[in-house]
Amino acid sequence: MTRLQPPAAVREICRTLEGAGFEAWCVGGAVRDALLGIETLDWDIATSARPEQVQRLFRRTVPVGIQFGTVGVLDRAGVLHEVTTFRHDVETDGRHAVVRFGASLDEDLARRDFTINAIAVHAETLAVRDPFDGRGDLARQVVRCVGIAATRMEEDRLRALRAIRFAGRFGFAIEPATWEAIRASAPHLSRLSMERVKQELDKILEQVDQPSTSLERYREAGILTALVPALAEAPTVRFRTIDFLARPGRLRRPARRALRMAALFAEPGAAVPVASDRTLKALRCSNEEIALARVVMEALGAVPSILAMSERFHAGAALRRFVATIGRLQVPLVARVLWARAAAELEAAGADVARVRAARRAGVHLYRRAMRSAWHDPITVGDLAVDGDDLRGIGIPAGPAIGATLKRLLEVVLDDPTRNTREGLLAVATDDVGERG
Ligand code: ATP
Ligand code: MG
Repeated sequence: MTRLQPPAAVREICRTLEGAGFEAWCVGGAVRDALLGIETLDWDIATSARPEQVQRLFRRTVPVGIQFGTVGVLDRAGVLHEVTTFRHDVETDGRHAVVRFGASLDEDLARRDFTINAIAVHAETLAVRDPFDGRGDLARQVVRCVGIAATRMEEDRLRALRAIRFAGRFGFAIEPATWEAIRASAPHLSRLSMERVKQELDKILEQVDQPSTSLERYREAGILTALVPALAEAPTVRFRTIDFLARPGRLRRPARRALRMAALFAEPGAAVPVASDRTLKALRCSNEEIALARVVMEALGAVPSILAMSERFHAGAALRRFVATIGRLQVPLVARVLWARAAAELEAAGADVARVRAARRAGVHLYRRAMRSAWHDPITVGDLAVDGDDLRGIGIPAGPAIGATLKRLLEVVLDDPTRNTREGLLAVATDDVGERG
């Protein structure tokens, strides 16, 4: 495990609190991540000071969640740090808690969800307070509730989703009693607001390298049936496709998340989209997310077999037709999903890692070709070297005949882009007129 080293601004806030006679500790996700050697930015501070005392001590504060004891303290650079009063949850109803201040550090750690999230570190001395052996569970790589799992999950059902997210994110196992409590929570999850559920799903798609591990756990625990029934029967290979979608860095995180979300519902050859707009709205997807999901669902729906398709793409005409069908702007996103699905299907068919990697490389190559094609080849009627006026000029009557001819010319050009010349196309169109006449 690596060094814990809270940033200078956090140390300064803790010094100020202690200087005024209060206790101050770094807690929560940042401590956990630092112990795992993961760089983190959000260092939360827990203190014995009451919210109004925190507000008085610092020049610039924001009332982030005063009723829960959280005050945002702005450092010199204007960065906000959350400072939360030690608290005790006195009453819970499956999601909301009535909190009481005046708790001790140990009481505050005891109300936290998982042992790995219940470690406190002193910003200066780096002394560690770890009453539930969170460090042991980090070393054993296991997510375990603080206290009695069944009770802790009853207090707040969101914890079931959080446990599965953390396990996926760190590649950890879930301790058996915690897992049992998650399964027992599934039928009660409908009490969670869909906004919270969506946030959790977003975090899985954004933070977890291999979201399929979390999604399969959702399924196994009965969470998909309870919350997103449209996904309960999804083939394993579809979830695995998400894992293959764009490593961080290649796509900005929100873009990656939206694409993964879209891929979650996209099934090759599906005549009817997996999710209706209503389903996606109920899941609190934004209009942009729904639009993207629609594009990806429809594009994949039109492709009966991805593996057969990628072979066909070696012929340029098939690739150009595909690009023409999905539209220039959609190519990068749809192609990513297609190649990811191809890799997942190869893997599911028993291909070894080298073969899957080779397929991914071939996918990248095809992706580049598709992009080049999308921007260099004539793939829409608007790209043709002739337009409606030209056709009227050679005697094609205004009206539907013009559109029909342009479409036919586009087919010619999709087969052979070198035929996209004015003279060549007019000659083809003239033949048309001749045939009709
Ligand atoms: P992330 O990297 O997702 O931010 P995190 O552990 O920091 O992970 P937060 O939601 O930011 O998660 O919460 C900060 C801390 O507050 C947690 O580490 C945990 O100690 C506590 N906490 C958060 N949500 C709950 C909850 N539902 N029940 C109990 N404790 C919680
Ligand atoms: Mg956090």
